[in-house]
Amino acid sequence: MVKNTIYIIDVTNRDGVQTSKLGLAKLEKTMLNLYLDEMGVSLSEFGFPVTRHETNYLNANLELAEIGAMKRIRLSGWLRAIKGDVEEAFRLVPKLKDVNLSIPISKQMIKGKFRDKLRWEGIIDMMCEAVDTARERGAAGIGVNAEDASRAKIEKLIEFAEAAKQHGADRIRYCDTLGYDDPFTIYERIKMLGESVGMSIELHCHNDLGMAVANSVAGAKAAIDTGVGAYINTTVNGIGERAGNADLASTILAVKKSSGFENKYHLQDIDLNRVWKICNYASLAFRVPIPLNQAAVGNNAFAHESGIHVDGTLKDSRNYELYDYTEVGRGHIEQIETGRLITTGEYSGIKGFKNVAGKYKLKFRDAAEAREILELVRYANVHTQKPVTEGEMKFIAQYPEQARKIMSVQP
Ligand SMILES: [Zn+2]
Repeated sequence: MVKNTIYIIDVTNRDGVQTSKLGLAKLEKTMLNLYLDEMGVSLSEFGFPVTRHETNYLNANLELAEIGAMKRIRLSGWLRAIKGDVEEAFRLVPKLKDVNLSIPISKQMIKGKFRDKLRWEGIIDMMCEAVDTARERGAAGIGVNAEDASRAKIEKLIEFAEAAKQHGADRIRYCDTLGYDDPFTIYERIKMLGESVGMSIELHCHNDLGMAVANSVAGAKAAIDTGVGAYINTTVNGIGERAGNADLASTILAVKKSSGFENKYHLQDIDLNRVWKICNYASLAFRVPIPLNQAAVGNNAFAHESGIHVDGTLKDSRNYELYDYTEVGRGHIEQIETGRLITTGEYSGIKGFKNVAGKYKLKFRDAAEAREILELVRYANVHTQKPVTEGEMKFIAQYPEQARKIMSVQP
């Protein structure tokens, strides 16, 4: 951890995929992990280790990290803070090294969800037991999620975090589960939490009031001002429960470019240039278009029409553009085939496959290898029900064994 530095933990593969009406195929989740790693994001909350249809995907992704297909990113599983779940997670996903353990801490949720079956002391005990179990099973990084922290009494939050710290948790996740905070309240609360407990804090903010990014950076500022580690939870294109989470691209830009953060608070080493690629891939995978006015990647983010603006922009782009489009990976011309088009899918043959593979400059050792990859590409199309992208095809060709595992789901 570097002083004054904010780290990104992306939760698209957990919060994003649990969103109503939306989901990702396991291959698509894998591509997001690979793209997040390319960008330099420190950790991806990559799924649910006790959910059976995730098992092959999770194990294969840990394998990919092990063999160097992912270089820097850590992959963390999301769990309820229940001893039995932690045990099951490490049984199903033995190479798991990072976990986030979640339990509600607000009076509303403790009463509203557990009725009279669980009270405050029980919550603390369960969380501590889950942390101990995770450590015993070999977890290297443990985050504890205080669900609905923004509606909990601050004394309760501090007591909870202190217990987590005593049991060796590495980070406390401040969950603004309902998006109830504003930048001022979250700043105050995180400052109190940081000062009292002195442990790294994750900001997990929802967008119900349209303030997820603002709250995240305000909370991170408070953590740093207090001298504790600061982590922001993001999702690609802000996709998450209900109105969503803090958008990855906007959060990166807010820290790098806003007047109060620029040069004072640093972002971990993240390649902003790859934002365009990951946002567009997620849009395709989720089948959710990027809004016209989305920061950095929206169609209008660098578009000008009215006289005064155009005149000003043409004279000096800094008149009306805060940063350059090239910084977020834009500026290239995307080619769309308007003539004959060969695609690959679940019923493709070797000729069509070779045509497409040739365009992507993929080379195969021999005919047998080409057939093997074609077979996996067919399954990829069955699996995603979308045309296989260039990135997906290259991944499959390079890591066929893991691709096979990732796409294997048996009820
Ligand atoms: Zn959430």
